[in-house]
Amino acid sequence: MGSSLNKNSKMECARHGLQKPSFICKHLQYGEDLGFFEATGEPDPDYPFREAWCGECDNILMEQGEWNDISEGHAQIMPICEGCLDEIQSRNE
Ligand SMILES: [Zn+2]
Ligand SMILES: [Zn+2]
Repeated sequence: MGSSLNKNSKMECARHGLQKPSFICKHLQYGEDLGFFEATGEPDPDYPFREAWCGECDNILMEQGEWNDISEGHAQIMPICEGCLDEIQSRNE
């Protein structure tokens, strides 16, 4: 993740314009019906970004018990705009 990211960070999306970034595993970007898992828990005021990953990434996350080199290496989390995330969510969950 970019070290310049802060809670007011925005990203420019070709289709949705200036948006808050969110983060997904690389499989979700073009995937369909892969499952959709999202970070839960208390929202962090200093890190108000959504994070989501597919069913296979969730299996590995459960196996590993946490985000570590193996689970992160599989997910290869990438930034995407929130508008795109909504579309990805409806396509995969
Ligand atoms: Zn994945
Ligand atoms: Zn977008």
